[in-house]
Amino acid sequence: MSDIHSHNPFEAMQARLRAAAHIYGLDDTLFQVFMAPTRSMIVSLPVCMDDGRWEVFTGYRVQHNIARGPAKGGIRYDLNVNLDEIKALAAWMTWKCAVVDVPFGGGKGGIICDPKKLSKPELERLTRRYVAEIMDVIGPDRDVPAPDMGTDSQTMAWVLDTYSMHVRHTENAVVTGKPVGLGGSLGRNEATGRGVLIVAREAMQRLGKPLAGARVAVQGFGNVGSQSARLLHEAGARIVAVSDLNGAIKNDRGLDIHALVKHVTETKSVTGFKGGEAMDRAELLTLAVDILVPAAMENQITEDNAAQIRAKIVVEGANGPTTPEADPILLENGILVVPDILANAGGVTVSYFEWVQNRLGFYWREREVNERLVEYMTHAFHSVFAATDKYKTNPRLGAYILALDRVSQAMHYRGFYA
Ligand code: GLU
Repeated sequence: MSDIHSHNPFEAMQARLRAAAHIYGLDDTLFQVFMAPTRSMIVSLPVCMDDGRWEVFTGYRVQHNIARGPAKGGIRYDLNVNLDEIKALAAWMTWKCAVVDVPFGGGKGGIICDPKKLSKPELERLTRRYVAEIMDVIGPDRDVPAPDMGTDSQTMAWVLDTYSMHVRHTENAVVTGKPVGLGGSLGRNEATGRGVLIVAREAMQRLGKPLAGARVAVQGFGNVGSQSARLLHEAGARIVAVSDLNGAIKNDRGLDIHALVKHVTETKSVTGFKGGEAMDRAELLTLAVDILVPAAMENQITEDNAAQIRAKIVVEGANGPTTPEADPILLENGILVVPDILANAGGVTVSYFEWVQNRLGFYWREREVNERLVEYMTHAFHSVFAATDKYKTNPRLGAYILALDRVSQAMHYRGFYA
């Protein structure tokens, strides 16, 4: 597997933006504007560790574009976090929010840390210090964080509390992906996985095949991977392989995902699961399946392994799992790629529903959330393929073009303040 440092995600975003802008005929000033984030903040975070030592962490919050509304995007806790990664993820949020047509711009944050090595009190102090530092740039009308790799609903509860203590009232619309008891939305936790299910079904339909019985391999078993696997399994697909950082397992007859989720809750890894046999992690990507769901992280499908991919459909649950060099190889081999900015947009779509519910003070039933998610995702799927056909391009650039069209329209109306 390629070393993740060998590919710069921000350059990968720029490469697709350049290609889409060319096909679309984007105004050059707007192109220059979109090539860089509107605001990047770097913060230094001294945190007292449990043993009394002080450690200084580095955090980021980047806002790529806010033409269509407040910046929106997750907070990532990972040792590989760096400014260019956060800039890429922020830009992808701009395009993603435009693709599903929710009234947000794009933002992203992160802290360089290994959350697995920090105690809960250390994570709480780190999160609170980070929020205190980025206080002035976030807010329900400015920039609304959410969970991402290494963060969860508990992290978001600390964000809510710290922000609320500073503004002297409870402001739950400052963050999404909160616990349901704190104003979180029903269905938010599984929303990215549910979005993956919805677009996987649509993509299979394009190939004239039902989802039931489809063979699926899932790379990554965090929130997105595990929820995608569970929902695809419940929809009748056969999950034949899954992997995580420790290893991979397969079962040609289909893995029992509910039993696997229980195993992972107990042991923290998919490895050692009795209902499957161990396999090589890198080999998972090359299995002859109907659907491959890369749901781990950036730069997993590269020029080194793209030619070996035998899936009919790739549904990008992760952000940036495919490098620009791998794109033409997959295309050449007739693989239908449902691009990240469409495929994993279910999360931010339900984040939007959560923000709306917070501001209304009126909460929806889970069925209403899920029905609206189906509506948004299927509409976005068909809009992306309509743009793909109209501009005679591939679905990834079709999605970028759809997004560029919407964001540049907002920019044109607003004009430049100078
Ligand atoms: N972190 C998620 C993403 O990459 C969700 C962002 C959000 O809900 O704001 O799409």
